[in-house]
Amino acid sequence: MSSAISSTKVVIDGSVVPATIIFSKTSGKIIDVIKDVLLEDDPLLVTYDVQFYRNMSPLVILPGLVDSHVHLNEPGRTEWEGFPSGTQSAASGGVTTVIDMPLNAIPPTTNIKNLNIKLDSARGKCWVDTGFWGGLVPDNLDDLIPLINAGVRGFKGFMMDSGVEEFPMITPEYINKALEVVKGKNTMLMFHAEMDGANKEDNDEEFNKCRHKHDEEEHYYSGLSEAQAESLAKSPTLHAVEPLSAIENDMKPLELATKNMPILDTVDPTSYYSFLASRPDSFECNAIYNIIKCLQKHPTTKVHIVHLATHEALPMIRHAKETLGLPLSVETCFHYLSLKAEEIPSGATQFKCCPPIRSDENRRLLWGALKENLITSIVSDHSPCTPELKGLERGDFFAAWGGISSVGFGLPLLYTVGTEEFGIEITDIVEWCCVNTAKQVGLSHTKGRIAVGYDADFAIFDPLMEYTVANARTFFKNKLTAFDGKALKGRVVETILRGNSIYALGKGVSEVPMGKLILEARID
Ligand SMILES: [Zn+2]
Repeated sequence: MSSAISSTKVVIDGSVVPATIIFSKTSGKIIDVIKDVLLEDDPLLVTYDVQFYRNMSPLVILPGLVDSHVHLNEPGRTEWEGFPSGTQSAASGGVTTVIDMPLNAIPPTTNIKNLNIKLDSARGKCWVDTGFWGGLVPDNLDDLIPLINAGVRGFKGFMMDSGVEEFPMITPEYINKALEVVKGKNTMLMFHAEMDGANKEDNDEEFNKCRHKHDEEEHYYSGLSEAQAESLAKSPTLHAVEPLSAIENDMKPLELATKNMPILDTVDPTSYYSFLASRPDSFECNAIYNIIKCLQKHPTTKVHIVHLATHEALPMIRHAKETLGLPLSVETCFHYLSLKAEEIPSGATQFKCCPPIRSDENRRLLWGALKENLITSIVSDHSPCTPELKGLERGDFFAAWGGISSVGFGLPLLYTVGTEEFGIEITDIVEWCCVNTAKQVGLSHTKGRIAVGYDADFAIFDPLMEYTVANARTFFKNKLTAFDGKALKGRVVETILRGNSIYALGKGVSEVPMGKLILEARID
């Protein structure tokens, strides 16, 4: 017994074609793909013993999205999100696979014991298939191989203070050691690529040669003097990616920084530009520069830059990929492609994330880098927290938890912005959010494509349906996003996971969670 679904518009290997997909709900696999919309009485349907057949025309059928960068925060900070609400949010946006980040849950996924704690808390609570990244922290080199053998997709490390004490930062020297340890293994090292300039002179010739430095126009740091902008970028007090201990101790990071740098006295902590100045593009370039140096020494392991926000690093990424031929991949996020610093209101800390959302000009250049294949994937970096930690009433960007809630928003966001402003097609989105993210997580043999033998994961998308994002209607545990009120074109009307419907517009998510935990070894 099998099922079938068809449409005049099915995304198959880079084209939109008429097709009928035959699949098994039992095995969860695609059995056949016929490049035609079959009639109800087609003998082929009898041959395959198709009991349920639906023609979805003119809706678009695409592979379920694979979001490789999601913080579900369970266990330990379950009040921030959790497996049920996070994976239901994913399902509501056509996402059928998420990979959970190793930090912000307690304990972090940095050894086998902690991975098992994570798996125990995830079991039976996931609405979509869920895999796991491990963490690379200063004392866990011996844990890397056991974690690979246990099924983590790879490891993420921070090159700047992560701001959560259980997940300390690492140095380039340590990255070299880690690359040595995992050599020859099917895995991937990934980095939160921000690194302050403490050990780098901005006039370093080699560094600047491969960096596209933009002129820092006045409007960019409006309200700040150049000296203040420079001081913000140099204050170690402001550099933790997340100011968790400051929030918990009710301290104001900018006030602390001002003690050592009186010039910051008149800086407005509620102005987005003050926060932006504290995390300049050069932080990202500095980190990526160091990562490329490490990769040059150990060019056999796949290395990935998470959430690239600056266009300034694009020349060095091009050099590493195209001239040096290094196995480097780069992702960016929905928010860097759809939001602009110029439009972020004062005090609107729901827009805070690290690295920060930059200028509109920068955003356009990121889209250009996607078209040129320098950036190859787009993810949510879904990273929610409680309203108290966002501190909206105070509006102090330095004292707010950074992170944007957006898992499940990708398809309509990218479709709206991409088609209206950048001439992209639905097939491009499938490449960036399905094919390439599946490849990144070592699942290119089961996920991200509509093909025989692949998982029957589908997003049914109505490109004409318009709607407006409303916080209250999201599935997030904490219903606060940076996209509230945004008018979008295109909407997911149904999500199918391994042959089973897990979400339908108007009905909501399936009664029972059907996601499995992904612990199989990477294919490459
Ligand atoms: Zn993240």
